[in-house]
Amino acid sequence: MEQKFECPFVYANGKKCGGFVFKWRVYGKTQRNGRVRPEHVRKIRLWCTEKNDHAGILHTFEAKTRMEFYPDQLPDHLYEAIMEEEWSD
Ligand SMILES: [Zn+2]
Repeated sequence: MEQKFECPFVYANGKKCGGFVFKWRVYGKTQRNGRVRPEHVRKIRLWCTEKNDHAGILHTFEAKTRMEFYPDQLPDHLYEAIMEEEWSD
């Protein structure tokens, strides 16, 4: 993505991840073009430059979903940028 957005992941000790979002996937009901309309977004999965998907070596469900966020859990500017890129070509 063109803009840099800080990884929204926060560790249990309250420390913020220092990475940047470089990839995302939008989950929800897809349109015929394979895209998800903003009102149908269920969850958004992110990957960051520091820890990728933050799952590490763990294979638990909790670890695998660490980087899945509901739209209202993401900073507005990040969510808007994702939606903008999702719908631009
Ligand atoms: Zn991160």
